[in-house]
Amino acid sequence: MEIIVSRKKGFCAGVRRAVEMMERFAREEVPIETLGSIVHNPQVVERLAAKGVTAAESLVQVRGGTAAITAHGMGPMVEEEAKSRGIRLIDATCPIVKKVHLIARDLAAAGYDVVIFGDPKHQEVRGIAEWAGERVLATLEWPPLARSKLSLRKIALLSQTTQGEEDFRLFINKVLESSLGRAREVRIVNTICGVTDAQKGAARELAQGVDLMLVIGGRASANTRHLAETCARAGVETHHIETAGEIDPNWLRGKNRVGVTAGTSTPDWVIEEVVAALELEGGEVLA
Ligand code: SF4
Repeated sequence: MEIIVSRKKGFCAGVRRAVEMMERFAREEVPIETLGSIVHNPQVVERLAAKGVTAAESLVQVRGGTAAITAHGMGPMVEEEAKSRGIRLIDATCPIVKKVHLIARDLAAAGYDVVIFGDPKHQEVRGIAEWAGERVLATLEWPPLARSKLSLRKIALLSQTTQGEEDFRLFINKVLESSLGRAREVRIVNTICGVTDAQKGAARELAQGVDLMLVIGGRASANTRHLAETCARAGVETHHIETAGEIDPNWLRGKNRVGVTAGTSTPDWVIEEVVAALELEGGEVLA
């Protein structure tokens, strides 16, 4: 049985940086509370908790003296609020997300109504929206379900960094079709990071050449679920697992080629454990 590991899998640079920052502070024995979950992966969360890094929903719930912004970033008010509460703030915002914050802020200041293509409940989108201030609308639907108070005469379109390029293109078309009568100017800034699209593309390609796909990642990780859906749509038997312990040996019976991939919140060591478990079942990693 051949084991083929996707060339694009696991932690993106932003999440890796944030987790490594937390580990560094934990080594200095500073108890940290992250504002929201650092990553949608229970194994990482558990490992960090053992080192003194736990999660709080907001600054109000922080009990210790140090809090951290996760890779998803937050709005501009968090620094002041932390200062007023006497909390030291560590900023692990992904530098790409940080750039989007400044783009949103500058476009709103230049008089654009900022429309963010993204899940309005997602922490990253909420943070970008707060940087834009009042002139902002975050939505995955166009026309938006909630009535907007914006005039939409001068529109700037941005995207949540993890949205797919094709979906953003469709969204842009819908906005253009319905707004051109009213809007005097529409500006599009491609703020998609591309990591998740690249992972999906590599997984799709891999799924087409194997007879079983194992997709590793937290059950709550939307990105891992999308990866598993992509593989299943390629017509191959696919299983979404969190850990090596979930592999059912029956899945491997009669299989010659097994593909492995993982979502952006899955650490290398969990992927390595899955590969090692497949090797114990007689698999050999294809270089
Ligand atoms: S997906 Fe891209 S933008 Fe988002 S945290 Fe990862 S590297 Fe940063």
